[in-house]
Amino acid sequence: GRNFRPEGTKIKFPNGVVVGGEEVVIMSGPCSVESREQILLSAKQVKAAGAKFLRGGAYKPRSSPYSFQGMGVEGLKLLREVADETGLLVITEVMEISQIEVMLPYIDCFQIGARNMQNFNLLRELGHVRKPCLLKRGIAATIEEVLLSAEYILSGGNYDLILCERGIRTYETYTRNTMDISAIPVLKKLTHLPVFGDPSHGVGIRDLVPSMALASVAAGADGLLMEMHPNPDKAMSDGAQSLYPEQLEKLVAQLRQLAPVV
Ligand code: PEP
Ligand code: MN
Repeated sequence: GRNFRPEGTKIKFPNGVVVGGEEVVIMSGPCSVESREQILLSAKQVKAAGAKFLRGGAYKPRSSPYSFQGMGVEGLKLLREVADETGLLVITEVMEISQIEVMLPYIDCFQIGARNMQNFNLLRELGHVRKPCLLKRGIAATIEEVLLSAEYILSGGNYDLILCERGIRTYETYTRNTMDISAIPVLKKLTHLPVFGDPSHGVGIRDLVPSMALASVAAGADGLLMEMHPNPDKAMSDGAQSLYPEQLEKLVAQLRQLAPVV
């Protein structure tokens, strides 16, 4: 609860980056790491746009087992290499307990995906790790369920936790999910944890991402996780919701009119 730390949890990352402080933190990059060239170019572009974290999946939770499943440990190595080269931090998804040890040397923040929000064994294990985590809201999870999943990590002693609204499934089919902007102030009120918005998975349509990003920050988000791809039309996953590099750059300039962005 917020009473535990009325001033809110601030998470200190390397390079002096603070999540949960005065500044909005941008995490961006492609849905998946696809190749060295692709992730290096992505890193340069998100850095130029003002992001502090490079995102990119190495282990991908795909709806179909026949879709691209990610580059695995090769992807982790590439993320670390290009992030160090460009001065960025790395956030990437962990899908199962056995990947935790493998990932530790390469990453700065574990992303727990919507599909794993209630993988309680994984959450419990991440509670014992001393590395920040970002927990995404499940596809059909209530706020209460998000909070209880967060408890699995917190009760293990890992307080460096970010919550992330990424859209929920409703009867509406025009957008991929329904971005529940109200979840952001609700989570900020109920918890001491930093809260992010992920408008990319929230709407699934590139041109709707900027307005939902702005809305998230207006609603009090501490940061944004957004997909950007150097060539979204050729992306191996989530191309339709990935921003073009110039769109990200323009969006960050707009965000800066609302709040300080680092
Ligand atoms: C992703 O960030 O690429 C992803 C798979 O997100 P989610 O878990 O929110 O679907
Ligand atoms: Mn994605």
